[in-house]
Amino acid sequence: MVAIMLIMAIILSIGVVTNLPKEKTTSEIFTTDMSISDIAPKLGVTGKGLARELALPLDTPKKKPLNKLGISQEQLEHAAEHILSHRSTSLKYYVFGTIVLFALMFLTRFGRPDNANISERKLWYPRIPYVTCLLAAVLVCGFVLGKSPNPMEGTVKVFKSMVGLYPSIVSKLIALSFFVVLAIIGNKLICGWVCPFGALQELFYSIPVLRKIKQWKIPFWLTNTIRSGLFCVVMLFLFGIVGSNKGFVIYHYLNPFNLFDLHFDHWLILLTVVVFLTLAFFIYRPFCHLICPFGLISWIAEKFSLYRVIIDEEKCTQCGACINACPSHAAKGTIESKAFPADCFSCARCLNVCPVDAIHYRSIWAKKATT
Ligand code: SF4
Ligand code: SF4
Repeated sequence: MVAIMLIMAIILSIGVVTNLPKEKTTSEIFTTDMSISDIAPKLGVTGKGLARELALPLDTPKKKPLNKLGISQEQLEHAAEHILSHRSTSLKYYVFGTIVLFALMFLTRFGRPDNANISERKLWYPRIPYVTCLLAAVLVCGFVLGKSPNPMEGTVKVFKSMVGLYPSIVSKLIALSFFVVLAIIGNKLICGWVCPFGALQELFYSIPVLRKIKQWKIPFWLTNTIRSGLFCVVMLFLFGIVGSNKGFVIYHYLNPFNLFDLHFDHWLILLTVVVFLTLAFFIYRPFCHLICPFGLISWIAEKFSLYRVIIDEEKCTQCGACINACPSHAAKGTIESKAFPADCFSCARCLNVCPVDAIHYRSIWAKKATT
């Protein structure tokens, strides 16, 4: 069922994307007899940002015509199209916020009836609303509204601003704060319910194939070490501490959000999409756990989440039902009261399996009231 809905959604949205009206082409607007200083403001980047896109050193003369710097029209168009593909649609922020609000209401109110009988817990938190939100995330926040904004880019752009690739760090910080605040309101709801690539991985994982392999979970210490290590390496290159190519962004080659614009300007991007969607059939959200910088940041933000999965320790019999239901190590870490459990994506799988009703999705104030 999920598979059929997913395939239909992708076909529909590809149709929408390919039928969008074409705007004036970049070749009509930008030519190589213009300089970096002429073009960069029109693209919303700094001179350094455009130089970076053109694979020129950051200190390249910004007033010289591009043809004198050896840049061809094709290179210029490629760079301009890539920069323009990162332009954000403000509508998408409203869609993100709306779905997160719905998710929060579902997890705290509508997902289980008031005074519900524990014997009927299998009926709690039906999957249809969750799958519908995931499809909306892929379709609307992904293919229809395009790849930007998204939480991964929101994170990377802040650091790119710090090396001068964007004119204003404030606007990038505001965009990142939007995602972080949503992650804090409800435990990583932005990743769990709305991020288009997160949703696509979740849908692939929900397809009931390779069930035996799905029971195996990669140790969190390993995935988090890889994710954090990659983040450090990216920063070392971006800030020019390693290599002579300051402003070089490794995440650019690992950015699967390009899928939603059907724009693969490097073979590594296509490879990333194919590899991580294939892995997503049997590993829970591999891109989020292994690569995504917002995954890392929101994992830290989770410690401050106002609404989250909370275990009633007095009721809990340590039967392990929620640990088995959880696709990651999050429930195990919560049961063991670890200071930094694995990422919890608020997927609700653990919320209808507890035989003694010791697990709830509620606010941290409710937790304090019951302990
Ligand atoms: S961690 Fe996953 S769900 Fe969250 S922003 Fe990154 S790709 Fe999206
Ligand atoms: S099953 Fe795991 S990831 Fe999903 S809500 Fe429960 S603890 Fe979080």
